[in-house]
This record gives sequence, structure tokens and C-alpha cells, in this order.
Amino acid sequence: MKIALIAHDQKKKDLIHFVTAYRPIFAEHELYATGTTGKNIQESTGLDIHCFQSGPLGGDQQIGALIAVDQLDVVIFFRDPLTAQPHEPDVNALLRLCDVYQIPLATNIAAAEIMIHGIKRGDFHWRDIVHQTKEQG
Ligand code: PGA
Repeated sequence: MKIALIAHDQKKKDLIHFVTAYRPIFAEHELYATGTTGKNIQESTGLDIHCFQSGPLGGDQQIGALIAVDQLDVVIFFRDPLTAQPHEPDVNALLRLCDVYQIPLATNIAAAEIMIHGIKRGDFHWRDIVHQTKEQG
């Protein structure tokens, strides 16, 4: 599965701890991230992550673009609800695209815990089946 990882600055440590805790699961999947989040997680965990631009410089939009072409399966986005973000329109656009394309989205650690157990259990395998069906035409 293709998993996107994003965290606002005040939530980056939480996401690093989260990915570290579940590293064996994340290691089995293709990981994508906004620039600073991805770099920090890579440094802390050694995981291979495809890093886009930093969020405020277009990284959220790049992740949204992947969703629009069915190239992402899950988004884990630890948002900071207490700090104004200069790229709020981009953040909203990304959340909107998750809803447009039925992409499972966790915006806090409590939801991400449930999601990661679901990923481990195979709860999202239906996405692979949808992909295969599309490929077979
Ligand atoms: P960053 O972007 O990982 O480059 O900090 C995240 C964001 O603010 O959307």
C-alpha cells in the first residue's frame, strides 16, 4: 500500500514516535511524505521515504495530485489545530480530495492507531482489489 505521512510542526515529534513504534508495519509499504516530515522520519527511523516539497511550498498539493490519479491508499496527517497555517487552503484541499476519492485519512494519533492496526490486519486490501480490477479493465 502507498501511505502518505504529513505532520505540522507541533506534531512532528508525535508522528516520528508513531512511525518508530510501528516501524515494522511501515517498512512493508511504500511511504510518501511532505519534505520536512519525510526528512525527519527518515533520519529517525532509516525508512525509505519519497519526499515531496515542504507542505507550505506545495507538498500537500503534490500528495493531493497523487490521490487524484489513484496513486495513494492511505493518508496519515497529524494536523495542528491550535496554530494558524500559511497554507491552510492547501491543507483543506488535501482533506477534501481524501473525501472525494474515499481515501482513509487519520488526522490525529488516536485515529492513526486504529488505522495502523487495520493496515496490519489487511482491512484495506479492498483497495488492492479495486486497483487490480481497474488494471484488468
Ligand atoms: P512539512 O510540511 O513536512 O514540509 O513540514 C507539512 C505541512 O505543513 O503540511
